[in-house]
Amino acid sequence: MDVEKLFHMTGGAGPTSYAKNSYLQKNVSDMVKHITLETLQELYLELTPKTISIADLGCSSGPNSLATIKAMVETIEKTDRKSGEAPEFYVYLNDLPTNDFNSVFKALPDFYRQLSVERNGACPFVFISGCPGSFYGRLLPKNSLHFIYSSNSLHWLSKVPPGIYNEEGESVNKGNIYISESSPPVVSMAYFNQFQEDFSLFLGSRSKELVVGGRMVLILLGRVGPDHVDRGNYILWELLSQSLANLASQGKIEKEKFESYHAHFYAPSKEEIEEQVRREGSFKVDQFQMFQPEKKNYGGSYGSAVAMAVRAIQESMLRHHFGVEDEVLDTLFQIFSRLMDEEMAKEEIKAFSFLVVLKKL
Ligand code: SAH
Repeated sequence: MDVEKLFHMTGGAGPTSYAKNSYLQKNVSDMVKHITLETLQELYLELTPKTISIADLGCSSGPNSLATIKAMVETIEKTDRKSGEAPEFYVYLNDLPTNDFNSVFKALPDFYRQLSVERNGACPFVFISGCPGSFYGRLLPKNSLHFIYSSNSLHWLSKVPPGIYNEEGESVNKGNIYISESSPPVVSMAYFNQFQEDFSLFLGSRSKELVVGGRMVLILLGRVGPDHVDRGNYILWELLSQSLANLASQGKIEKEKFESYHAHFYAPSKEEIEEQVRREGSFKVDQFQMFQPEKKNYGGSYGSAVAMAVRAIQESMLRHHFGVEDEVLDTLFQIFSRLMDEEMAKEEIKAFSFLVVLKKL
C-alpha cells in the first residue's frame, strides 16, 4: 500500500469525517497546549523575528489545526516585546497530498473574520498556505522556519515495515494488524527499524528547515516501557483485528485480505526517541513529558467514541484494502465499539502520549 497516495483522515464535514470525530486528538493536544504556547513565546522573545514562520506537520482536515494556529497568533500578540511592532505570520499547513486541504481552506474566511472581529477589524497578517508532502523528507527551504508543531501525527510510519514480510513476500504477522502478543519477535524489530529510519529522516529534514534556536513541539502516542506489546496502543489494533476476523467469518470480507492488513504505525518509547535525537545530533531535548489524556464524557459510550475516531483514521486504508462500502464499515465499527466497551469493563486501557520539545542547536 502506498501510504503517500492513499492515507488520509476522512475528509469533509459529514458524520464520519475527521472534522466531526477528532475531539479525542484535540483533548490530547489541549492537555499540553500551555507548553506549546510557552515554547513559542520563549522562541519569539529569543529571536524576535519580524516575520515568524510556523509549520503544522500532519494538520489533517477539521478544526484542530486552525484552532491551534489561532492560539499561537494570540500568544505572540500578547507577548511584551521590545519593539512595538507586531510580527507577521507565515503558516505552512502540511499533510499528505490526499488530505482534504480544501476543507481547511474553506474554513479560512471564518478564521480571519474571527481574528478581525476580536480586534475591532484590525486583523493581524497571518499568511497561510498548504504544504502537501510527506514529513519524512524535505518540505520547505533551508532555514525557513522558526517553529514546528506536530500533534497526533508522528506515530504514523512512512510505510508498513518491509521486514514483516518473508522472502516469498508473505507477512509473518498474519491476522495481526500491529505488533501483538502472538507476533514473532522479528515483527517488533521490523517496526522498530522502520521507526528509526523514518524518525531520523524526519529529524534530518527538520534540522535543515529550522533556523538555529528554532523549536519543535511534537505530540505523539508512545509506550511506557521497552515492551512492544503495550496495552494502551496495541489493544486498539487488536480489537480492530478481532472485528475484522468477525467480518471474515461472516464472509463479508476475504480471509486473505484480513490476514494481510497491517498498520503503518509505531508507538516509540521515551528512550527510543531520545536515542534518535542524540544520534542525529542537531537538536537538544528541552522537555519530555509523558501524559495520559483524561477520559471525558463524549455523549455515547467510550467504545463508540473510540470507534468513530478509529473509523475516521482508518477508513481510507480499509476501503482501499478490502474494497468495502459504508454498510460493511458500519458493521465493522459497531462490532469494534462493543468489543471496546467490553474490554474497558474488564480492565482500564491507559494510552499515553508524549510531548517532546526540541531546540535546534
Ligand atoms: N494534527 C491534527 C491531525 C492529526 S491526524 C490533530 O491533532 O488533530 C494525523 C495526520 O497526520 C493525518 O492527517 C495524516 O494524514 C498525517 N500524516 C501521517 N503521516 C504523514 C506524513 N508522512 N507526512 C505528512 N502528514 C502525515
